[in-house]
Amino acid sequence: NEGLGSWPARRARKAPHRTALIHGEQSTDYLALHLRTTRLAHALRARGIRRGDRVAHLGPNHPAYLETLFAAGLLGAVFVPLNTRLTGPEIAYQLADSGAKALIHGAAHAGLVAGLPADSDVRTRVEIGDAYERILAAAPAEPIDEPVAPDDVCLIMYTSGTTGRPKGAMLTHANITWNAVNVLVDQDLFADERALVSAPLFHTAGLNMITLPVLLKGGVCVLVEAFDPGTTLDLLERHRITFMFGVPTMFDQVARHPRWANADLSSLRILTCGGSPVPTPLIATYQKRGLTFLQGYGMTEAAPGALFLDAEHAADKAGSAGVPHFFSDVRVVRPGLTPVGPGETGEVVVRGPHVMSGYWGLPEETETAFADGWFRSGDAARVDEDGYVYIVDRLKDMIISGGENIYPAEIEDLLLTHPGIAECAVIGVPDDRWGEVPRAVVVPAAGAELDPEQVLASLSERLAKYKIPKSVVVADDLPRTASGKLLKSRVRDRYGAPAP
Ligand code: AMP
Ligand code: MG
Repeated sequence: NEGLGSWPARRARKAPHRTALIHGEQSTDYLALHLRTTRLAHALRARGIRRGDRVAHLGPNHPAYLETLFAAGLLGAVFVPLNTRLTGPEIAYQLADSGAKALIHGAAHAGLVAGLPADSDVRTRVEIGDAYERILAAAPAEPIDEPVAPDDVCLIMYTSGTTGRPKGAMLTHANITWNAVNVLVDQDLFADERALVSAPLFHTAGLNMITLPVLLKGGVCVLVEAFDPGTTLDLLERHRITFMFGVPTMFDQVARHPRWANADLSSLRILTCGGSPVPTPLIATYQKRGLTFLQGYGMTEAAPGALFLDAEHAADKAGSAGVPHFFSDVRVVRPGLTPVGPGETGEVVVRGPHVMSGYWGLPEETETAFADGWFRSGDAARVDEDGYVYIVDRLKDMIISGGENIYPAEIEDLLLTHPGIAECAVIGVPDDRWGEVPRAVVVPAAGAELDPEQVLASLSERLAKYKIPKSVVVADDLPRTASGKLLKSRVRDRYGAPAP
């Protein structure tokens, strides 16, 4: 078995009694992870799961999540992680689309699972807890030796769907392994790493940017079921965490927490942020605290890491997403794939052994997603003289006002330096004269009274006139995906009506 399914056995062979996972008060060493995974694989095989069959998982960050992933990998079956925040119909769609035959799920989803359509192919349904422990206890622990090749599909991960229907990105064992190698090389992970996994494992970052690289290296992953800034600070101290990954909103909430100022962060070596635009004020907050704050850029389809700003340049290139990972090629191009010159804006395209083989069951979408072997990210970026890439925004979120291109992220970055603003989104709204004009939707910081006129005045010194929002809407919150990504399309639906 040359796939992920063999990782627990390989680790157990080297250091069986090192801790692999911590979840609440429970810890699992690599030998236990190996044996439990093997038992689960036997149990699934006894229920008819074979090579290539899909095995879904719907649950919080928990050892059972990784056990399902590795057990599927032992059988050559395909793991399908499901987002726990989806509604019943959304989950039913992904189960049907992937053709999953088995589903391991958390207790919180028992009702939803019971309500799956009567004709669902998901015959095997196991609830994490007593039922799960029973099937493990009843299964043998003899080694499983299925031939699994690096190019076999390891998992189908549905993209977070900020646009349209979610598509299942097929990631092979090789894709995930190369991504993990890139993380190990570029982040200098130690064998003694103690990682805090509070990003959901059902997203590519939580799984592939932190958990799997740390397990490959033999470190400890502390699994947290629900992100909370106060709990994060507690766990950082209690487990002497060395490595944490988060999307910008998570780091932002931690830094705004009342305990932040006095928390003991001395164990932290690496903080990596990514998944959506990283505001420069946020980077400054962490750097002022003396912490190494790295940035990663990627996408589900690239398993996910494409660009990385390493520790050496975290300060002098702050705001950049860095340069390509060691085994990755990234270019910023004009239509037709010619690279842009320094300072120009183009589309990010990615190629490498970590890039997916395609979208599950969608040959046409797969074909249009690639140009000449390069995966087209749909993101706009510019490159500096040293080759460092700065992600500008989603191309489709670009606003065109009077013929000028406006990237909302630039304005959002400035708005976030306003002490009274906790979150914001800039969208284009139809305008008779300019075609589109920017509008700011802002969420006030706790206790702050926001005066829209004053907010706009604060921008006028720092932005060209055409970029200054023509209106400000104060909102209670902003729609986000489970991974904390702003759902721009939903912000537009809610707040995008033209000014009267
Ligand atoms: P997903 O498809 O959910 O994996 O999200 C991938 C998208 O997240 C990318 O195409 C970017 O739009 C965005 N993204 C990821 N990392 C960054 C980053 N460091 N800066 C800006 N945007 C990012
Ligand atoms: Mg995407």
